Amino acid sequence: MKDLLQQYAAVAGQDVVQHLRQLARSLQGLKVVHVNSTREGGGVAEILTKLVPLMQALGIEAGWEVINGEREFFECTKGFHNALQGRPTVLTKSMIEAYEKTNAVNAERLRPTLEAADLVFIHDPQPAALLHFCPGRKGKWIWRCHIDASHPYRAVWKYLRNWVAAYDASVFSLPEFAQVLPHRQYLIPPSIDPLSEKNLELPDEEVQTVVGRFELDPERPIVLQVSRFDRFKDPLGVISAYRLARQLTPLQLVLAGGNASDDPEGEAVLKEVMQASNGDPDIHILLLPPDAHRTINALQRAADIVLQKSIKEGFGLTVAEAMWKAKPVIGGDTGGIRLQVINHQTGFLVRTPEGAALRIRYLLHHRDHLLDMGQRARRFVRENFLITRHLREYLVMMISLLSGQEERIEVE
Ligand code: UDP
Repeated sequence: MKDLLQQYAAVAGQDVVQHLRQLARSLQGLKVVHVNSTREGGGVAEILTKLVPLMQALGIEAGWEVINGEREFFECTKGFHNALQGRPTVLTKSMIEAYEKTNAVNAERLRPTLEAADLVFIHDPQPAALLHFCPGRKGKWIWRCHIDASHPYRAVWKYLRNWVAAYDASVFSLPEFAQVLPHRQYLIPPSIDPLSEKNLELPDEEVQTVVGRFELDPERPIVLQVSRFDRFKDPLGVISAYRLARQLTPLQLVLAGGNASDDPEGEAVLKEVMQASNGDPDIHILLLPPDAHRTINALQRAADIVLQKSIKEGFGLTVAEAMWKAKPVIGGDTGGIRLQVINHQTGFLVRTPEGAALRIRYLLHHRDHLLDMGQRARRFVRENFLITRHLREYLVMMISLLSGQEERIEVE
């Protein structure tokens, strides 16, 4: 396991790895548990897949638990998600009951592990009520919010806040997302893993094979958006932007997505996307299985430009993934995308399909600029959004929470 960490020295630098080992010294043997609601699909699962083994490699006893639930539970938590991202949302009494009951049932199963842990990371609203059902907990509990909570729909946040307020700390990705809460709040943006199947270098032939497999034309530019089929990702806006851009520029659009098992709205959105594409042979809607990491990697490498035209976005791992592959990203001017896409530097920020179309055309007609921007994007991710930085910030937070120090922490 020790070797796992060492592999990152080549990408992030030996000093970075050394620093992680130093920070982890006081955390040896600590029991840390992460809890979320799906093992695959979506950004949280993507991050935990590597963060947990990396913590283990640092000598921390890290584990990852997933809560199970029925449809009504996930409808309710999707409602929480929508509401936190500002959409007025009505939750019925029976949905709220399903939420609380599901947390209670999962707590029965997880209680021994959670109560014995030194640190528990609860990701997003789905398992947020677990704390209430673990009255004998001995460790610190952290609520990690991955969602753009900048303007939550108040009625729903008021309900959720009751659970969250009992935590010892919460973590948000951006200062704008932080809420009024009676505990410490940390700002830690997510990250990508440069060594995962999703992001490692691929041979050109493999990229071309994937282009062939999906019957893309290697001669014409490819614009790609990778996303769950979710309205906040604005797939219909992407289709409009493609239509506008291609009036003057030959183009193909790839919308690659799949379903996260904790997202019940995906099917309906996919239907809308199919309808909007109206049989256009240059719109490729790809439904990929949740483990298609290498395929997504290849598609991101095959693309000329990557779009992430979200209307709300907690972070947008897909943005960092594309930038790491030296692709300029045209992203929605919102939330975590703003942290990554520095307008005119590492990509373009847009608010409308017209804006996106304008930038697509500009980049395709200024190839030098496209390439420069891509290189800047890659450097920006290397400096700011690799998993090693993310891990370092988690370690510092863990030390500060356990030591009770607010102002400064001492490391050996
Ligand atoms: N992803 C995937 N398959 C898909 C769609 C998305 O593997 O069909 C991955 C994507 O590459 C990224 C993550 O899921 O790593 C999505 O994270 P992001 O933060 O962009 O959005 P979220 O789904 O968490 O809102």
